[in-house]
Amino acid sequence: MRFPFLYAFTNLGKDDTLLSEKNFVRPFRTRNNKLNTGELKMNNWEKNVRKVEPYTPGEQPKESGIIKLNTNENPYPPSPKVTEVMKNFDTDNLRKYPDPGISILCEAISERYGVNKNQVFVGVGSDDVIAMSFLAFFNSGKPVFFPDITYSFYDVWANLYNIPFERKALDKDMHIKKEDYYGENGGIIFPNPNAPTGLMEDLKDVEDIVKNNPDVVVIVDEAYIDFGGVSALPLVEKYENLLVVQTFSKSRSMAGMRIGYAFGSEKLIKYLNDVKYSFNSYTLTNLAIETGSAAVRDDEYFRKTCESIISTREAAKVRLKELGFSFPDSKANFIFATHKSAYAGDIFEALKKKHIYVRYFNKPLIDNYLRITIGTPEEMERLYEALAEIVG
Ligand code: PMP
Repeated sequence: MRFPFLYAFTNLGKDDTLLSEKNFVRPFRTRNNKLNTGELKMNNWEKNVRKVEPYTPGEQPKESGIIKLNTNENPYPPSPKVTEVMKNFDTDNLRKYPDPGISILCEAISERYGVNKNQVFVGVGSDDVIAMSFLAFFNSGKPVFFPDITYSFYDVWANLYNIPFERKALDKDMHIKKEDYYGENGGIIFPNPNAPTGLMEDLKDVEDIVKNNPDVVVIVDEAYIDFGGVSALPLVEKYENLLVVQTFSKSRSMAGMRIGYAFGSEKLIKYLNDVKYSFNSYTLTNLAIETGSAAVRDDEYFRKTCESIISTREAAKVRLKELGFSFPDSKANFIFATHKSAYAGDIFEALKKKHIYVRYFNKPLIDNYLRITIGTPEEMERLYEALAEIVG
């Protein structure tokens, strides 16, 4: 197990005065949800520092000419309407603070999705939306439930806020077992489709989880919903305690602009906004608000690029199978694949040498899998060629 503070304090042994004193780390939960009460020598000021093991984002390599299939970005550019806004953007606007209510973007989203404007929350990527939601909604002291194989930021936020949590094992086919989420808990979060498996749970099962948890907030993280999934958005009208989170980072090709949003009951969204305004009033930049509004209004481009990715993904399923890979049936813009004989870590390294980046998680349960983002058909061809050389 890795303890971040051990890295942080490796210089301590050089100072004998420090070693003569015994200091203790304030107990905190590790990534594996174990309470760490480890003894450690440190300066007094450090004793009350919040110790966290941070999330590790996927690599953003600086080299050019690479094929980047490691962070689930969209291989297509954002809508031309976004480019137009960027070109015409008046930099004089930057003198002013942005609209704290993010009105024009909330309006554009509410029109596109047919909900009331007061049922929309916008943040700096869905990471920000979810982080705010943990802070706002998971305060009972009871454990929050999420799958054992899932987005690896959930336990990081839980640890950051000292929220207890329980990981629920997926079934043998990597699906969520809904009954596991019926016990007493402090809230629920899961991605649908799940990441990194790409598997989609039926809307009926999602509703069962929400229905069985009327006393807590249930968050459905739909970062990858636009690649063939069925959204839980209609359930928001029925369940006051449901928050559905989506993002511009994947299906709208705007990971770099950092725009995430959520749908919920007016009451839920009001609570979330209260926390946001207690944290940072001006979350989105003027440019993000304007380009985001343009992107959400260009539905034709959005549908076209999503369809391209879906068809490339379905083709990838055939090609990867031929190369000896197996995988859950993804409804996302990535495939979570394991090979019948080659070890995932080795394939990952070999691909990297060929300047092709995919994602490898060196973690229990998933250390023999690669998460491969769907690129353009041309990028995927280069991937198959490289894989044929590596595992063929
Ligand atoms: N949820 C899931 C399941 C994700 O994979 C990601 C992408 N890392 C996010 C949320 C956050 O995406 P963003 O902050 O770019 O909207």
